[in-house]
Amino acid sequence: MTTTTTVDSELANILYDRLHLHSSDAHIAVVGDEAFAICDKKYHNVSHSDTVGGLSSYEHCDAILAANVLNDHDLYKDNSRLNSLIRSLLHRLLDGGFAVVSGTVEDGQAVARLTHFFDVFRSDGEHDTTIGFEFIEARNLSTEVQQHQNWLRMVWVLRRTQFESHHEKTFRDFLDNHQYKGSCVDAYEWIFGPGFISPGGAKENLHYLEKLQINSNQRMLDIGVGIGGSAMQVAQTYGAEVVGIDLSSNMIAVALDRAQKVKNTKVSFVITDVLKVEFAAASFDFVYSRDCIHHIPDSKKLFGRIYQWLKPHGKVMITVYSQGPGVLSEKFKNYVKEFQYNFHTLQEYTTILKGIGFGVVAVDDVSDRLKATLQNEIDKFEQQKDEFISKFSEEKYNVELTGWHSKIGYINEKNLVWAQIYAVKS
Ligand code: SAM
Repeated sequence: MTTTTTVDSELANILYDRLHLHSSDAHIAVVGDEAFAICDKKYHNVSHSDTVGGLSSYEHCDAILAANVLNDHDLYKDNSRLNSLIRSLLHRLLDGGFAVVSGTVEDGQAVARLTHFFDVFRSDGEHDTTIGFEFIEARNLSTEVQQHQNWLRMVWVLRRTQFESHHEKTFRDFLDNHQYKGSCVDAYEWIFGPGFISPGGAKENLHYLEKLQINSNQRMLDIGVGIGGSAMQVAQTYGAEVVGIDLSSNMIAVALDRAQKVKNTKVSFVITDVLKVEFAAASFDFVYSRDCIHHIPDSKKLFGRIYQWLKPHGKVMITVYSQGPGVLSEKFKNYVKEFQYNFHTLQEYTTILKGIGFGVVAVDDVSDRLKATLQNEIDKFEQQKDEFISKFSEEKYNVELTGWHSKIGYINEKNLVWAQIYAVKS
């Protein structure tokens, strides 16, 4: 295990420790003096430049490490400069090669904007191919959080890959431009309460946290952390450390801005897909998730990963929208399709968790709690209708209110069940 003392060494170690680029013959191009010095000790074939423009003579790289290039705020505010940065990185890399790009940006919005550009940019490759970056993650540098209380110094990890076409969409793009558009996130928070995008807000969240007996030496992974309310609640209430991951850059943008204000170094955030991110085995005491995993297409893979990441006797606590025993209505099926949800029955979850090897597994129907909470939220909508409309719009008011009533209908018809999943690794 390499010890991390500076931000640049943390960056350089991403190549070796996270991306498993272990071949000393790998061709690495580096922007930044300190990162270069560190890479030069590990690899035989390291090229150095002071600027990204200076990389133009390098080709067929296995990785490019561009330290601090995003400190230039004018660069990422200017679409054409940003596009040419991304194009330049892409065309210097081999297929499958990694770009690791870092910088301190102005705010969470800048993080969301950069993530979007990296994720959707496409270019013509050789032999009629379309190339772009597979977005792996954008994360806080832990050295920077711990030493300088800075959540806005971020690193993006990207892999050059071929796409079917220039228009192929990613799931991140779907989330950020559909259910979790910036304006939708604000409206959801208005309904659920500060920091939360799930029913009942902080109070309901505490109900689940209290079952875990968390203490200050422990570490939690929050999957689908949203705008970070639960992560902050855990850090402030129990003093435990929380790593919050979420695939929506709009969500993490808000979480980062709030972390930057509150400055609790127990929390850090990563924009990433839970099915792609890497954590060392046995690195968490708890894996926690509120109303996220029905978004995840492969539940067996998900719980297999959770199992690996948990320490022995580590605990899982999850709430999730699930499929009930009732006959599914067309309306419910369309709702599932529109949001691309992946619903399981409670029995299916039990089978998956037991199959993976969890010792204790309890999957319970907590729909009554959801129904009561939804009803409270409907009351709030109606009592504070004018405020909601003045902040958002009448159209949004009608859409959300109808959505809330529909969810109560799905529960009554036993199409929708709110499940609480509690499990312990033996
Ligand atoms: N847990 C938060 C809360 O209670 O406030 C947010 C809940 S929100 C209903 C569900 C979250 O799951 C969204 O922020 C969404 O972006 C995230 N999500 C969906 N698919 C994901 C994936 N594959 N990896 C990580 N997060 C994901």
